[in-house]
Amino acid sequence: MLSPAVSAHTKQLFRLDTNRPVVGSGPVLFGLDAEALAASMVEIGEPAWRGRQLAEAMYRQRVAELDKATTLPRVLRSRLVTEGWAIGRPRIVQTFVSKDETERYLVEGQIRDTHTVEAVWMPDGDGGEAGDGSNADVPNRSNHKSAKDWARATICVSSQVGCAVNCQFCLTAKLGLQRNLSAGEIAGQVVAVLDKHAVEIGKERVNIVFMGMGEPLLNYDNWMAAVRLLVKEVGISPQRMTVSTSGIVPGIVRFAEEPPDVRPKLAISLNAPNDEIRSEIMPINRKWPIEAVLDAVRKIRLRPRERITFEYVLLGGVTDQPEHAQQVARLVRRSGLPVKVNLIAWNPGPGIAYQMPQAEAVERFKRALVAEGVPVYVRRPRGRDIYAACGQLKRTIEAVK
Ligand code: SAH
Ligand code: SF4
Repeated sequence: MLSPAVSAHTKQLFRLDTNRPVVGSGPVLFGLDAEALAASMVEIGEPAWRGRQLAEAMYRQRVAELDKATTLPRVLRSRLVTEGWAIGRPRIVQTFVSKDETERYLVEGQIRDTHTVEAVWMPDGDGGEAGDGSNADVPNRSNHKSAKDWARATICVSSQVGCAVNCQFCLTAKLGLQRNLSAGEIAGQVVAVLDKHAVEIGKERVNIVFMGMGEPLLNYDNWMAAVRLLVKEVGISPQRMTVSTSGIVPGIVRFAEEPPDVRPKLAISLNAPNDEIRSEIMPINRKWPIEAVLDAVRKIRLRPRERITFEYVLLGGVTDQPEHAQQVARLVRRSGLPVKVNLIAWNPGPGIAYQMPQAEAVERFKRALVAEGVPVYVRRPRGRDIYAACGQLKRTIEAVK
């Protein structure tokens, strides 16, 4: 039974999917910000600052169980637990470790359905091409001060289970859209992974990329609520976060209106040199062609030195030819935007009939862009052996109960 004193925000969490049971039998707290937590404390006759304490415990100290939130009085903790309240932070239920040290996690969400959520940990970044141009040079491991064996890391998180966008080269597309993730499930992937690696925010350098399963801008409200939690409660700078989109124009327009203190950086999955090829490999392009996407991107008030990333998946024979590189260079110039291009060699997946590009084709493509003055990085594939690389996240339909 729900306590009558459940706050509106908490009720909203329950409404995510009313047909399915959620964590615990009472309010689920993870995903609520300090303000909403304060409101729910006030509703049960506690002082509002208990909400701040709860936020500190969940998002800073990374306490995963209510009875371990020792900053709260014991009586209050046991009252909440008895009434069925739970933190309900998403839990890592399975870990796959790659020989390159990338880790892929199956994360149990807040809704106990048959879906797990996928997140990826990439120590030492992904070679600087995660949408953050500043980390292209991998520092000498022996020089870094941390006792850990990484100097910085990138966490890649999912925004939906599956995806509705149907890009022809992407394994996630094969799932179709199963469901949206809640704000708590999106931010929870990050906090669970930070916890696992005992990351010290502020001291250690972590980038967050919203490049896992799903199209973040098609789950805009939950995704952006997760970003605000990560910025305000967890303490990660939005300039360390990059969201990647297939080019959802209304979503980009909303994104452009976000205040700079919570707006992440943007990556556009361009993936093709012109509308003709793009429409073939990304049917969404028929709805929002390249120029419409660029028009929306131009509305963003960029920070000094901020660049838009164009991600470009090289499909052997389809998008990796010299004339394609020339067209991309022209497109970048025509856009008038400060852009950098991330080249990604296509990662194969079962049932997808594309070819990986030849190593020489990747190199040639890169050199052509460099010659045209376009900043370009080649993203090295991470965790291919554990299906953690771009576009490989799919092993998700696995019963957790
Ligand atoms: N839906 C968002 C974010 C997730 S996909 C988007 O499409 O941007 C993250 C990146 O992986 C995108 O740039 C996408 O083009 C790329 N990608 C998808 N499938 C891939 C594959 N099989 N190999 C390499 N990159 C892939
Ligand atoms: Fe969805 Fe991105 Fe895959 Fe396209 S590339 S199907 S938008 S996850």
